[in-house]
Amino acid sequence: MNGGPLLVVNGRLWPAARWRGADAVFVRNGRISAVGRGRDLRAAVPNAPCLDAGGATVTPGLTDAHLHFVPWAQGRRQVDLLGVTSRGAALERVAAGLAADPGPTPLVGRGWDAMGWEAPPDRASLDALAPERPVLLHSHDFHSLWFNSAAMRAIGLGRESRDPQGGRFERDFTGEPTGVAREHAVAAFEALGAQAGPAIDDALLDDGAAALHAAGVTSVHDYQRNANDMARMRALASRRRLRVLQHFGPEQLEALIAAGLASGVGDAWFRIGALKLFADGALGSRTAAMLEPYDDGHGLGIVMIPRDELVATVTRAAAHGFASTVHAIGDRAVRHALDAFEAARALPATPLPSRIEHAQLVHPDDLPRFAALGVRASMQPQHATSDALAATAAWGARCALSYAWRAIADTGVTLAFGSDAPVEPPLPWLGLHAAVTRTRTDGTPAGGFVPAQCLTLDEALAAYTEGAAGLAGLAGRLGTLEPGAEGDLVVWDRDLHAAPAASLADVRPRVTVLAGEIVYDSRTTGAGADAPAIGATV
Ligand SMILES: [Zn+2]
Repeated sequence: MNGGPLLVVNGRLWPAARWRGADAVFVRNGRISAVGRGRDLRAAVPNAPCLDAGGATVTPGLTDAHLHFVPWAQGRRQVDLLGVTSRGAALERVAAGLAADPGPTPLVGRGWDAMGWEAPPDRASLDALAPERPVLLHSHDFHSLWFNSAAMRAIGLGRESRDPQGGRFERDFTGEPTGVAREHAVAAFEALGAQAGPAIDDALLDDGAAALHAAGVTSVHDYQRNANDMARMRALASRRRLRVLQHFGPEQLEALIAAGLASGVGDAWFRIGALKLFADGALGSRTAAMLEPYDDGHGLGIVMIPRDELVATVTRAAAHGFASTVHAIGDRAVRHALDAFEAARALPATPLPSRIEHAQLVHPDDLPRFAALGVRASMQPQHATSDALAATAAWGARCALSYAWRAIADTGVTLAFGSDAPVEPPLPWLGLHAAVTRTRTDGTPAGGFVPAQCLTLDEALAAYTEGAAGLAGLAGRLGTLEPGAEGDLVVWDRDLHAAPAASLADVRPRVTVLAGEIVYDSRTTGAGADAPAIGATV
């Protein structure tokens, strides 16, 4: 069923320059039907349910342009170590998790960042709590895993085990794994972790979608690459809980080619995205690939795919109509990604734009190459604030072009913003605040604080709406209030442009509409898709 009709009046429609003189939006049959003056629209549709925005901002529904929906939705019910500032505190949460869920399936958690801890993560400290039951704790960036001895036994890992290519197990001087896996070594625990609860069922996923609606997010670009999760996302979209651009991994490319598919195939609910490739690791674990060594003595990081192989893979995908989306955090990885897109330029343009994910550090020589090659930058403003300490320590003066939203946008490149959830919470107000202020919500400056990289609120909103829509090939149809566009919008709780920048982290949606349906209404918290009909009908 297509939602609506619904008339929203007395709103400050965004972007203001586009909608001067209009303060009302009418949604019908799941689409934006008209934009105009409230009194005119009321006269035209006198019986439509009417929502008074009370002078607050009305934006299109937001897109989170980079997240891992299924693990995030499941992780909401697992051990949460985000923001934990000591190993002792982390172990307390693990103990609580073990008590709350006695197993015997593995206990899984995520979110730790050992920077500043009194002691490093190790398996002995976990063994004291869980001698028999596997415990698997993902770092906040998911590039490291802290595990206990039971987990080690379960996968047959020992002193003799070799490190996989592109990854390693931390070891003591005898060669015995100490309890932390880095990068590709994390994958050794994937099958074990998949046995952990809670079960991933429709209810868990719909609950996750409802949480996104409460955050004003109606559309996602999903980066989970296994076939099970992709099927779950497709089902979620067919239940009309979220619009999904589904990216995929190299292991799926041949099957997609054989099926005659291409990037951009699908509709406004579910579309085939781009081939996701990892050019490097992450900043937190100093595995991001650098042109020059880290300032804090960690070498050059890890190149996950040799440059030539990256070029060949991106080119092969493009030859079959598939765009690529390359994870690149260090400046060397960004360069390799740009090299690959440059090589593929000889081929016909892919149906969706090429994109680089994160682009956390860009060498000045590479800055103009994004625009020259038509490469979009998909970035996560919250990383700049979460990584503040690490970026300053690792990159020093190079931070001038770290999280360089302004510098990249100024070259004419379209930005898209997301959270990389579960790495960061998928709460766009945190991203808006970080993008506009480049400070943490407590006022602490972001790493290598460069005020020159701040965006305006309009630019940041554009990255969550039209910028992201363009990456899905849905420009003009999503991320806009244009008549004819999909009927996704957010009525915020205030006039966002009148709010001081420092208060952007406090703004919240009041009502979220997806395809004309009210899917979130703060006045009936948690009402989800079954929200009762709104009150005042004019
Ligand atoms: Zn990601």
